[in-house]
Amino acid sequence: MQIPPTDLMVIEGLIERLHSLKRELVVHLAETANAAAPVDLEQPFGRLSRMDAMQQQQMARAARAGQTRRLEQVKSALARVERGEYGMCVSCEEDIETARLVAKPEAPLCLTCQNALERSRRR
Ligand SMILES: [Zn+2]
Repeated sequence: MQIPPTDLMVIEGLIERLHSLKRELVVHLAETANAAAPVDLEQPFGRLSRMDAMQQQQMARAARAGQTRRLEQVKSALARVERGEYGMCVSCEEDIETARLVAKPEAPLCLTCQNALERSRRR
């Protein structure tokens, strides 16, 4: 379909955003690698501070898991840019709403497919 020129400019900005998101996530994951490393139980922690350390480590791991998933989505969005398929829903192949891409440039699914996916997950 014919993309309106304003949308085309928006898409170009989003592709830029994807590249910087990828760089940010890679740097952040490298920087937080230590925080998620296993807690050394041999260290002279008190009972409470050891629990704190383990809780912090779990939070760091959960955050990293989310960032790793996001990085994968950003990478596959960039792969879709390469194939000229960026902005197209990977499920129904309709255009993804521009507002949705602005909010989440790595979004692989249109709102309809995303909602359907979330409904099926909740079941
Ligand atoms: Zn769709």
